[in-house]
Amino acid sequence: MFRILLFVAVAVSFRTPSPAEDKARPTVVLTDEGRAVHFSGMLFDGHNDLPWELRKSGNSSFDQVDIAKNQPQQHTDIPRLRAGGVKAQFWSVYVSADTMVTGDALLQTLQQIDIVDQMIKRYPQTFEFASTADEIERIVRSGKIASMMGVEGGHSIEGSLGNLQRLYDRGCRYMTLTHSKTLSWADSATDDAKHGGLTDFGKEVIREMNRLGMLVDLSHVSPAVMHQAIEVSSAPIIFSHSSALAINDHPRNVPDDVLQRMPQNGGVVMVNFFSKFVIPTALREENENARGTIHDVVDHIHHIATVAGIDHVGIGSDFDGVPRLPEQLEDVSTYPLITQELLNRGYSKTDIHKILGGNVLRALRGAEQAAKR
Ligand SMILES: [Zn+2]
Repeated sequence: MFRILLFVAVAVSFRTPSPAEDKARPTVVLTDEGRAVHFSGMLFDGHNDLPWELRKSGNSSFDQVDIAKNQPQQHTDIPRLRAGGVKAQFWSVYVSADTMVTGDALLQTLQQIDIVDQMIKRYPQTFEFASTADEIERIVRSGKIASMMGVEGGHSIEGSLGNLQRLYDRGCRYMTLTHSKTLSWADSATDDAKHGGLTDFGKEVIREMNRLGMLVDLSHVSPAVMHQAIEVSSAPIIFSHSSALAINDHPRNVPDDVLQRMPQNGGVVMVNFFSKFVIPTALREENENARGTIHDVVDHIHHIATVAGIDHVGIGSDFDGVPRLPEQLEDVSTYPLITQELLNRGYSKTDIHKILGGNVLRALRGAEQAAKR
């Protein structure tokens, strides 16, 4: 029976390959086993931009965009979070790097934190605020979605360690060192490298994050910053939403020589789903608008699991922060298909549960322990 279903699924999925596809791979079909493995794990996604999406198109108001209902114009709403088995989420409180010019980076970041606060207050049956790894586990056991925040870009602290502490006190548990622009203290992966990595103040920021128990997030930074941050940090680092450079040569992705440092550091690389970061360079050059498929994303997971190790890979979708997503990964309801494809490739339940959330929970606990030392 299973084989027949599989055969049908494979047959149906074959279509005329677009110029950007050198091989068609079968549509992933969720099985009872896949569903059971997925929902018995703890999916803890590293990066979702719903707060920014709400600011842009919902006037920062859940009255205007009620996420208890289906909101197909965005990637995230409560019915689809539940369908996707999301158990814990780092909500990004991103604000544009242009705020470095307008001078209101901290103010806007605090407004984004207010959006997450509002969300938790408005939907108390669904979300609960978490500030530690233990709280995450307790909230997940209660059936709610544990909600933690991450700051996306060191511009948010406006050059002040006092502001960093303030963001920690408001519940932010990671900070991405840069966004798209190079700061006065750290080089971005997508801007001119002005400092050869981190300045002395940049290293001071990392030590202060270690002291507070805030995870250092190396998505968006230059390779030199990645290496230096790993050297300076006394705690595991994360990449909250980055994929593998060896598969797609994009500066937002993580090079193998950084992946190889993960076992010693204890960190986690959480794979981004954005088509532009995910689909291999050769295909992208043929068709800039190619979306790719879920198989491309699982290729990144597999590469990181192979080079960094099974304990150092996670999921950081970037839903509601990107304009184009692979087939079968269109929104937050689709995560069970990743579990299914990992099963299809021979991954065990134990290893899949590490990828879904066990690894990032361990890294968070590591940052908490480093703060106590
Ligand atoms: Zn980002």
